[in-house]
Amino acid sequence: MNIYKLKEQICEIGRRVYAKGFAAANDGNISTRLNDREVLCSPTMMSKGLLKPEDLCVVDYEGKQLGGTRKRSSEILLHLSVYKHRPDVNAVVHCHPPHATAFAVAGEPVPNCVLPEVEVFLGEVPTALYETPGTQKFADTIVPLLKSSNTIILANHGTVTFGPDLEKAYWNSEIIDAYCRILILSKQLGRVNYFNDKQTKELLDLKKRLGYDDQRFHKGENCDLCANDSFGRGYVEEQSSAQASSGCTVSNGLASAPPDLNTLVELVTEQVMAALAK
Ligand SMILES: [Zn+2]
Repeated sequence: MNIYKLKEQICEIGRRVYAKGFAAANDGNISTRLNDREVLCSPTMMSKGLLKPEDLCVVDYEGKQLGGTRKRSSEILLHLSVYKHRPDVNAVVHCHPPHATAFAVAGEPVPNCVLPEVEVFLGEVPTALYETPGTQKFADTIVPLLKSSNTIILANHGTVTFGPDLEKAYWNSEIIDAYCRILILSKQLGRVNYFNDKQTKELLDLKKRLGYDDQRFHKGENCDLCANDSFGRGYVEEQSSAQASSGCTVSNGLASAPPDLNTLVELVTEQVMAALAK
């Protein structure tokens, strides 16, 4: 694709990011590889909804600006971390989608084994440690997580999603925010039901057939494919820690979760009152 087409595509993705409410004011940034020496990226201090092709910047893989009249985004270093460690990736979108960012702020890990599309398109979504945005230290936080993901939550900040082209990189931002929104809504309704092992294995087989990779393909036979350690299971503290300590156990999902704490307290209170009444 020629450079002008890529510039237009970044502007188009910018409009979608802004229209979805994923980037307030001048938040967020978008980039794509041009070749093995240059990256095209959005400028600093501009609304992603108002980008024009002539606003875009060209940088090298160290972040040095090579072209464009506006100053490049300070968060380009985050994008460059992705390009350096993932030769298969050609585009990166960083934004602050509110529902995914709520997970980032609450320190709530994004669970697996809830929605088929999320299993197939995203897989495991790790959370990177917090660092001050715009710094190299911040850009380095995602490095250990890059190999096995295409969507990363940035603690107390937002998301970074990437893929083989701009469209796919942006889709992952939409998928993660829609997913987090559904999780929040379903938890408000009462509970989150997880896939059981058989359902998860079937989905992972489908994912393999579609040609996607997933780090769970490389786990041992008896590993928990839905090793969720918090969301939805946070009600069941003892069960969570027991699972964590055994390392690689197979879980049956939430369908078999014990009654919640309030029910237990009520039961115990009833029994104590009955004993006192004797
Ligand atoms: Zn940001």
